[in-house]
Amino acid sequence: MEAAARARLGRRLQEAVGARYAFVDPYEIRLYQYDASPETALPDAVVIPGNAAEVAAVLRICADEAVPVVARCGATSLAGGTVPVEGGVVITFPRMDRILELDLENLRAVVEPGVVNLSLSQALRPLGFYYVPDPSSQGACTIGGNVGTNAGGPHTLLYGVTVNHVTGLEVALPSGELVQVGGRKAVEATGYDLTGLLVGSEGTMAVVTKVWVKLTPVPPVSKTLLAIFTDLRSASNAVSAIVKGGILPAAIEMMDQLSIQAVEAASHAGYPLDAGAVLLLEVDGIPESAAELTERMGRICREHGAREVRVARDEAERQALWKGRKGAFSAMGRLAPDFYVMDGVVPRTRLPEVLDAIGAISDRTGFKICNVFHAGDGNLHPLVLFDAFKKGQYEAVLAIGDEILKLCADAGGSVTGEHGIGLEKRENIRYVFDEDDLAVMETVRRVFDPSGRMNPGKLFPTGRPAPRTEPQPPGGRRPAPAPAQDEVWV
Ligand SMILES: Cc1cc2nc3c(=O)[nH]c(=O)nc-3n(C[C@H](O)[C@H](O)[C@H](O)COP(=O)(O)OP(=O)(O)OC[C@H]3O[C@@H](n4cnc5c(N)ncnc54)[C@H](O)[C@@H]3O)c2cc1C
Repeated sequence: MEAAARARLGRRLQEAVGARYAFVDPYEIRLYQYDASPETALPDAVVIPGNAAEVAAVLRICADEAVPVVARCGATSLAGGTVPVEGGVVITFPRMDRILELDLENLRAVVEPGVVNLSLSQALRPLGFYYVPDPSSQGACTIGGNVGTNAGGPHTLLYGVTVNHVTGLEVALPSGELVQVGGRKAVEATGYDLTGLLVGSEGTMAVVTKVWVKLTPVPPVSKTLLAIFTDLRSASNAVSAIVKGGILPAAIEMMDQLSIQAVEAASHAGYPLDAGAVLLLEVDGIPESAAELTERMGRICREHGAREVRVARDEAERQALWKGRKGAFSAMGRLAPDFYVMDGVVPRTRLPEVLDAIGAISDRTGFKICNVFHAGDGNLHPLVLFDAFKKGQYEAVLAIGDEILKLCADAGGSVTGEHGIGLEKRENIRYVFDEDDLAVMETVRRVFDPSGRMNPGKLFPTGRPAPRTEPQPPGGRRPAPAPAQDEVWV
């Protein structure tokens, strides 16, 4: 964008939200070129609205100036979902982080998009409730971003993903109108399920300004088991056997040996360093049923080669195990300077062969690949370890990621389980949808966004490579560690 046009845009945005909360200065906007993915691109302006009316005003200005709009909440997207690849205005939500209403009788809360996922459950727990979808990033990601990606998490095996826990949305349309879809009484909702359509639309249709979420009572008992195996294949077979045995636990997570070593070094939770794989399993319920299911799952794991099954003795041990698991991606920093994480899905029964094939890719290419994932859902997260400063490694891991996603699609799965398509997988989407499928989706998108200005360059193939991040020189400023959270991770 030309300097004069950018300055005018900045002035108009400042009039809408206040001088402090809109900026176009190249230095100030630099932070907003990143999310948790390797891609980067600079926006033309950044705006931090304080309420829905201001969001709507910003969208009207963007429509008038014909500039792209990128909604950004916690910026933990691993798919480049918030990277403003076509420039334009980034709208971000740290000021819209209020829990507006708790309606315990109707099991609903109304929240602004900037509410951090974990904060919502922490606010609810003393009242005996929680918000179920629990991405491992829940200490940093927000409800708005979770709606954007239809986020999952370890406990979505039994309870469902974000779309199953959101009953209504208030959104600002690209034209700047505020509309409500769904609401508190989703059970009696009639007409099109527009909430379902907008959840997971990755900011390509509208900007979410308010969310109605379901609340769930904290179960009387949660029992957590750690099943320790000598190899990945036995652990994978145990997962299928548990589900085939008629048990649907709240969570079944798997980690391979490399992941266990990184996680244990970071968390000291008691993960066995010599194990080939572990399963972290959890059942919720009343004490009698939880005890029975715990016993049955333990038996099935032993029958499938588990050398040991431990049941967390108390809440502190349970929280430590989960904190270790949920901190797994960050723990990878102990193994390599960088990792590239994939988000493929395969039918549960194909886990053993797909994991073998990923192992073969690692052997062939020489790149270590860790596996830490939602095994119950067949949602794989292979993490390819590399060093972005070593010439050619970044390109090599992108090619490995592509090969893994093709493998998942060919096994009857998908190229994303929860992280979204974003910028990263906009070409890989072709592995699961053909031209006709994509054309239908594009038509639906255009109903909301006829001019294609909402998060452009995401979700749909463009035929162009994603922008390349140049690694920053080492020794630069590192971010300060996040402030300590309450140690409640599930
Ligand atoms: C260490 C780590 C672990 C993770 N574990 C998980 C996991 O277990 N499960 C999981 O699902 N994901 C996981 N993720 C990915 C990420 O946390 C999720 O995709 C999350 O939902 C993103 O939330 P956010 O607030 O950071 O959103 P952002 O990254 O800011 O945005 C994500 C997408 O939503 C859109 N969006 C954001 N705000 C709005 C809005 N107000 N209106 C409309 N669209 C909007 C954006 O444009 C973008 O497309 C993990 C990420 C990290 C870094």
